[in-house]
Amino acid sequence: MLELKNITKIYKTGTFKQKALNNIDLKFRSNEFVAILGPSGSGKTTLLNIIGGLDRYTNGDLLIKGKSTKNFKDKDWDAYRNKSVGFVFQSYNLIPHIDILSNIEMGMTLSGKRKNVRRKKAIELLNKVGLKDHKNKKPNQLSGGQMQRVAIARALANNPEIILADEPTGALDTKTSKQIMELIKEVSKDKLVIMVTHNPEIAKAYADRIISMQDGKVIDDSNPVTDNELKEEYKLKRTKMSFLTALSLSLNNILTKKGRTILTSFASSIGIIGIALILSLSNGFQKQIDKFEKDTSDAMPIFISPMKMISNETIEEEMTSFTTQKDNLYPTDEKIKVKEDTKTSSFNYITGDYMEYLKDNIKDYTSSLMFGYGSLNMIQNYKGEYTYLSSLSDLNIQVLPFKSFDDLSISSIITDYYDLLYGKMPEEKDEILIEISNDNIVSVDFAKALELENNEYTFEDILGKEIKLVFNDIYYSSYQDMYFPNEASREIYDNYNNLTLKVVGIIRVKKEKKSIVSSNNSIYYTQKLVDYVHSIEKDSKIVVAQRNSDKSVLTGEVFSSYGDDALAYKKMILARLYDDVAPTDLYLYPKDFDSKDEIVKLLDKYNKDKDEYTKVTYVDEAALISSVTSGIMDGITIVLIAFSSISLIVSSIMLGIITYISVLERTKEIGILRSLGARKKDISRVFNAEVFIIGLTSGILGIVIALILLIPINKLLYNLTDLTNVGILDPIHAIVLIIISLILTLMGGSIPSYLASKKDPVIALRTE
Ligand code: ADP
Ligand code: MG
Repeated sequence: MLELKNITKIYKTGTFKQKALNNIDLKFRSNEFVAILGPSGSGKTTLLNIIGGLDRYTNGDLLIKGKSTKNFKDKDWDAYRNKSVGFVFQSYNLIPHIDILSNIEMGMTLSGKRKNVRRKKAIELLNKVGLKDHKNKKPNQLSGGQMQRVAIARALANNPEIILADEPTGALDTKTSKQIMELIKEVSKDKLVIMVTHNPEIAKAYADRIISMQDGKVIDDSNPVTDNELKEEYKLKRTKMSFLTALSLSLNNILTKKGRTILTSFASSIGIIGIALILSLSNGFQKQIDKFEKDTSDAMPIFISPMKMISNETIEEEMTSFTTQKDNLYPTDEKIKVKEDTKTSSFNYITGDYMEYLKDNIKDYTSSLMFGYGSLNMIQNYKGEYTYLSSLSDLNIQVLPFKSFDDLSISSIITDYYDLLYGKMPEEKDEILIEISNDNIVSVDFAKALELENNEYTFEDILGKEIKLVFNDIYYSSYQDMYFPNEASREIYDNYNNLTLKVVGIIRVKKEKKSIVSSNNSIYYTQKLVDYVHSIEKDSKIVVAQRNSDKSVLTGEVFSSYGDDALAYKKMILARLYDDVAPTDLYLYPKDFDSKDEIVKLLDKYNKDKDEYTKVTYVDEAALISSVTSGIMDGITIVLIAFSSISLIVSSIMLGIITYISVLERTKEIGILRSLGARKKDISRVFNAEVFIIGLTSGILGIVIALILLIPINKLLYNLTDLTNVGILDPIHAIVLIIISLILTLMGGSIPSYLASKKDPVIALRTE
């Protein structure tokens, strides 16, 4: 069965070499009860461990059924231990945190036997060793003799051909020793039993053969094997532990230290909680921002100003220049450079073509349009003093007609966002609408414009108030080829050409819209007035003069000094003098959120094949706000996540340390499992399983705690901001976070698990 040829075992401790076994030559029969006698330190345990494949010989060879083990791999030894050998130790070596049935089953579990097969066999064995009434007990609920019976049952579980017992009665009293020896004797009937003892009486009473050892040598053998005894065939299947076995083993172990596991999981979950909360909140806020953008998209127009400086690009550029560091600032050399003339255009060239393009393309996407034209020349008579409205500093005459492409009437913007408090909507060219602020207050200048002299008025008083509109030919005088506004005077005020505008209605911003539309003192008029003014002014002297001049008739500026921009600039001035139907300013009100994207696309499309000077830039205020806010949100989110990630990393390191402690605690278990044939891989699996359980628990715990915390957080946010359900955890984020928690903890536990698998089973078994 077994043959030891010249086996030598040398232990090296530092530079000291200990010859534990010295040239041992021994043969064992398949069926005999061998006792190995010898004083302490003579090498008995070492011999047994080498025979059982727990330890490796330094020199010589061990033949198992005639097969040399010189080229045995780890897995061959594991299979040999699992299938062919059963160990019985002096200190029983049961796994304390699982019940005795599971202890007995462990070897079968490792060899992949099915659950019901294992159970049946384990109960059968428990009956055999006389413990059938104790099957649900844990090892520490048994006496020493009973524990040794369990150990013997475990040794027999895989029907091994060899039982190796190392002083099995060493820790037992005489009476119990006898019972155990009877049991081993019974077992030895159809097996090879090799038992180490230092008690010659026991050896004589039970063994068929006694081998005596001293100083690592065999000094006597009562019944040596002769050469002509039978040879057998070697055959073995390898063992494997499923991850499920490892998981249940670790689950049992973890259950014995619930408090610590919960604490550990909780500590590791803090990072997850943090990240989950941050993600939920930033998600929620982003959603709120998007919602706000959607809600306000029709109130926040896309604005096309006469100046190109005002566009999303330039504004964003300016804003980022605050935060980003340019590396060409504060040069250290003593050089001065002249700035290169970058040829960019500064005026938007809004032409009739452009207006046609808008009319043809964006009509379906806009609810309303608002056009700005040159300021109308208006004059007032305030207590006998004549003043142009344009010279009043505090007056915000947003003299902008609302209209849609289809009709020239007041657009829905007014009816959607304003309440008509009094009067009616203007229809004719001389009818105007005034807007009062939401506290029913008008500014002093606004009051002056309407020639109001008292402090308080009823709506009725205001209806019918008049403003005089002066046309260019009366407003301007010429001197040589330049034009100047005439000083405001009674003659101008009373000129019979003037058009008298009458207040027909009073509007105020709607309560629910006050956050999205600013509340102003403004005067609104109809497109009819614009068209009428245009029809008159296009033939005014100043317009004709300006059309034929290559410099500004108001300032004397030569247009050519604007380079390629000259034409756009001249056009703008003419527009201001009402020569052109093309407006100077444009406000496009999108129908809804998606329409806004379409409008932006169309505006970009127009610019595509245009050069720098004929491009028309625009401001998308809503996008600007959300790009800035979401930029800030992203920044804050990233910073917070980075902080929380530190706690994640810390917890994975902590988990590594805790796993390492667990490895130290379970060293004995590692030895036992190895003696039962567990592979190194199985051992690391046991610990990886432990970490897996903790990682999963902490991930799920983190998500659950985060979800619970979101309830009061949302309440608090609702109280602070009126926003409901800001913090919402995306289920995908939750799953990803649990996976991250698993990965990080597995990483943290991988080193200790690896160290565990590397443990020498013999040393592991020796530790207490
Ligand atoms: P026995 O079981 O007969 O009491 P052992 O086989 O345990 O003896 O030990 C034989 C000798 O080998 C002893 O001198 C012991 O100190 C030494 N020895 C055993 N194991 C180790 C080890 N892991 N490292 C170093 N020396 C060891
Ligand atoms: Mg010993």
